[in-house]
Amino acid sequence: MLKYLYLIFSLCFIFLPIKYVHPELKYYYQYFKYKVEEQCIEMKEPPKVFIYFSNLKDYNIGFCHESYFGTYYRITIDRNYWTEADFQSRMNLMMHELSHCVLNKDHVTDKTNYMYKDDTVVVDLDRQVEADIKQWCSLSAPGNRK
Ligand SMILES: [Zn+2]
Repeated sequence: MLKYLYLIFSLCFIFLPIKYVHPELKYYYQYFKYKVEEQCIEMKEPPKVFIYFSNLKDYNIGFCHESYFGTYYRITIDRNYWTEADFQSRMNLMMHELSHCVLNKDHVTDKTNYMYKDDTVVVDLDRQVEADIKQWCSLSAPGNRK
């Protein structure tokens, strides 16, 4: 009996919405959300969203982790990189990680694209992000395009 109560309790917790975005990262998250909502009816996200700083190992500057069952995603940004980075680099990084987690976007080989695997010189970030969002609205979520 207790076992079942525990299971019910756990399931409730999994689907309980919790969103934590570090105050310094909120602007970038809102910017991305606004861009999505310009083109899509809604920005579909799992019940739990965590976006915060961490000290990442090696040369990693950002990381998107999604749960197997779509119950949450977590973005971690390297604190040291962020402190040294200028506004544009911060924007590139946040758009990159959000596109992984929200749009399920993979890396590309074009070095001028924000979805290139390493830190790079992005040409016209806004246009690139908008194109990916537009594609996501219609392909991954039919009927979600405005
Ligand atoms: Zn990446």
